[in-house]
Amino acid sequence: MKDYKFSSTALRMKSSIIRELLKEAMNPGMISFGGGVPDPETFPREELAKVADKVIREEYSHSLQYCPTEGDSVLREAYLKYLERAEGITGLNLDNIIVTVGSQSALHLISEILLDEDSIYFVSKPIYLGAASAFALRSLNHEDLELQDDGIDLDRLEKRLAEIEKAGEMDKVKFIYVIPNFHNPAGVSLSLEKRKRLIEIAEKYDLLIIEDDPYGELRYEGEHIPSLFKLAGKERVLMFRTFSKVLSPGMRIGLVVGHENLVRKVTQAKQAADLCSPSLTQRIAGRYLEQYDLRESLKPTIALYKKKMKLMLDELEKDFSDIPGVKWTKPSGGLFIWLCLPEGFNTLEMMEYGKKNGVLFIPGVAFTIDNSCENCMRLSFCLPPEKEIIEGVARLKKTVLEYGKM
Ligand code: PMP
Repeated sequence: MKDYKFSSTALRMKSSIIRELLKEAMNPGMISFGGGVPDPETFPREELAKVADKVIREEYSHSLQYCPTEGDSVLREAYLKYLERAEGITGLNLDNIIVTVGSQSALHLISEILLDEDSIYFVSKPIYLGAASAFALRSLNHEDLELQDDGIDLDRLEKRLAEIEKAGEMDKVKFIYVIPNFHNPAGVSLSLEKRKRLIEIAEKYDLLIIEDDPYGELRYEGEHIPSLFKLAGKERVLMFRTFSKVLSPGMRIGLVVGHENLVRKVTQAKQAADLCSPSLTQRIAGRYLEQYDLRESLKPTIALYKKKMKLMLDELEKDFSDIPGVKWTKPSGGLFIWLCLPEGFNTLEMMEYGKKNGVLFIPGVAFTIDNSCENCMRLSFCLPPEKEIIEGVARLKKTVLEYGKM
């Protein structure tokens, strides 16, 4: 066929630079600070294998069967108990939780149920690419909030909301999307003060907050900050969680926690999307949560990533502090550091130099809707071994000097 007559939505879709780069990462000798994929050594494979064996042999009538669209009740119950134990979140029941295919599909489903072509939504700049693509399928009407060291710019949020209200367009504003902990790509977290202020603003304008939190459990230093969900409850916040960074991304398990009316709508959208998430990995995750203490089993993972993060920060300090105008975030957890070079640098162009020198990073433009942040890049420290982190930062410095003719 010559013309597939793609829909207007399909015509808006683009391939992700990240996926393309991940292919390059396979080249021998290449050091990749690109993909935010967990170190496979952190997967509790023996424990999962033991649980899986039992789940398949003894619980096959559930684990190998279709399951309800909302998800396996063993997993949902175990997760609600985990939220209570780990974060003191109480008062929820099975109507408040649905299992999705990773939180990526939650982003897609929420976009389906909340956004029309003219809907307005607030996002950070830079933004997690997967959220930008999911939302852009329905509406391009994003409002960007610059990320500061303590999270999104709330002065800008208030100013824009006041303007939108004055223009009589509040009905179009659907949600504020927030990654509160160790932001992807920027590594920064929303401070407690700002969390409280954000909730006040959302209450004033009666707006929904979508709290996407894949990295909160990966804290390497400092005090845990209560989630927006814990602070404001299900009336105000819809919370996305995922097992991708704390157990295994291959299991493709995400969890959406929130008000029963919203969860019911997500369920209806999911019925049309995929009937149900895989029963097998859900039951395995559910039994795993019952039998093991997730926070306890994360301790070695946290120790490993903490070491790698500290090493990358030390190497950046050593190699980059003499380049005028360069700055980078200093996260307390998660998987990412955001490094910005002086204005005039274009990290997308610089990638070619990086490939030649055997180092990969993700250019900042990949995390913006308006192709800005061209002088920045995302560096991920979770996958490369320590030796490669040292060598990779040295190669990155060489790349910057070559590109900048310094
Ligand atoms: N949200 C954010 C902020 C992410 O960084 C990611 C993955 N990198 C996702 C959602 C999606 O993750 P998954 O579908 O594996 O749960």
